[in-house]
Amino acid sequence: MIEERFDAIVVGAGMAGNAAALTMAKRGMKVLQLERGEYSGSKNVQTAILDADIVEQLTPDFREDAPLERRLVEQRFWLMDRRSHVGLRYRFNDCNDERPNRYIVIRALFDKWFSRKVREAGATILYQTTVTELAQNRRGRVIGVRTDRQDGIIHADVVVLAEGVNGLLGTCAGLRERPTPDQVALQVKEMHLLPRETIEARFNLKRDEGIVIEAAGSISRGMTVMGFICANRECISLGIGCLVSDLQRTGETPYALLNRFKRHPSVVPLINGSELKEYSAHLIAKRGYNTIPQLCGKGWVVVGDAAELNNTSHRGPLNVAMISGRIAAEAIFRVKSRGGRSTSNSFSLYKKMLNESYEDLKKYKDMPALMHTQPDNFLLTHPQLVSKAILNFARIGGRPKAGEKQSDSKSFGDVWSWTGLFGNGFRLPRAWR
Ligand SMILES: Cc1cc2nc3c(=O)[nH]c(=O)nc-3n(C[C@H](O)[C@H](O)[C@H](O)COP(=O)(O)OP(=O)(O)OC[C@H]3O[C@@H](n4cnc5c(N)ncnc54)[C@H](O)[C@@H]3O)c2cc1C
Repeated sequence: MIEERFDAIVVGAGMAGNAAALTMAKRGMKVLQLERGEYSGSKNVQTAILDADIVEQLTPDFREDAPLERRLVEQRFWLMDRRSHVGLRYRFNDCNDERPNRYIVIRALFDKWFSRKVREAGATILYQTTVTELAQNRRGRVIGVRTDRQDGIIHADVVVLAEGVNGLLGTCAGLRERPTPDQVALQVKEMHLLPRETIEARFNLKRDEGIVIEAAGSISRGMTVMGFICANRECISLGIGCLVSDLQRTGETPYALLNRFKRHPSVVPLINGSELKEYSAHLIAKRGYNTIPQLCGKGWVVVGDAAELNNTSHRGPLNVAMISGRIAAEAIFRVKSRGGRSTSNSFSLYKKMLNESYEDLKKYKDMPALMHTQPDNFLLTHPQLVSKAILNFARIGGRPKAGEKQSDSKSFGDVWSWTGLFGNGFRLPRAWR
């Protein structure tokens, strides 16, 4: 039975929760972290790109012992049609120095390591403990939590909600709304085992170099679908993400979408002969700045996916989760060190600091709406047309080029009126700028 009182309780040991708990524990605060999984990362299915400078702010010497799969040296973007793809390849040579700036990690392993750092910093961590309720006093102030482990309340000055995209606590306590199907995507992923040398040969990588491919196009079938392929040390992770509202509308199953992606002639040679190790699925946040809920109140703050902190243009919600966890923790520490109680707006410092340090959330606030209203154009029709135009450009063929160019222009004209074309030509840079 836990009877002591804590400076802070952190619900969840994902990226945001670990960043928050680590920052507060390092500042000498008395922190309790509660995680329903068997260990930190046990519920996580993700292979992710990790930004080194964000982790460095939390634990500067992480390169010494963190489980890093490969340093990311190349990103490819594919526009696929049914049998081919047009690709953009970006190779960053500054990644070849001794302090690479991005890594590929397998979250189940990385989160476990991260959690060990939190414990070493002095926090108390309880796994296999589900927080069932936020305890509030009569004035609506959050004073602690109830769990499935024991009766009674565990008290704290502040509760940090880092419960992820599907967290129910904040919703049940009326602190934020449940995401609607058009605000979350379902991501399904497979892990394919292959020998290390085979992966390096297939992706043209030297030892420890890693690559990520993101793909859009024919796999989308008019929905908001993105595919990804990630070369890890001894496996390839491959998956697709699709808006839940699109799955509802079309009746498509994520597994069928994934299969179509896997069978694409550009993907087959990459996973050929591999052994399928696991299949997993998870929701990911797709809202952006426009739908960020209230971030803090009396006795509570919310961080990471639970707060819908998602930079939709540059993706990387995992990295934003870490930023928000650290900033929330610093704001909490400042309030505490000033001797302040958590009044209704004391943690609004968190919101202010977040806005100041991470303007990008606001910058790309209109991107999700633009992409989701026109998935046909952006993810299906354009890739097909671009692919056809490039094929016409790249081969001699038996027909005069003038005719082919005319046919390409006509195809563009057929699917997009000139007013629509100019409209999007105007809207896209505005959402992006
Ligand atoms: C397949 C996949 C691939 C992805 N790839 C990328 C990528 O390449 N780059 C990127 O930036 N992002 C990626 N993401 C998104 C990224 O995983 C999330 O943005 C990130 O995990 C958010 O961190 P978080 O700490 O807010 O939430 P989470 O990591 O989801 O952690 C929440 C934690 O809270 C625990 N929890 C929930 N409720 C309770 C409760 N009541 N009591 C106790 N514990 C509770 C959960 O068990 C979980 O451990 C991907 C997601 C998926 C699914």
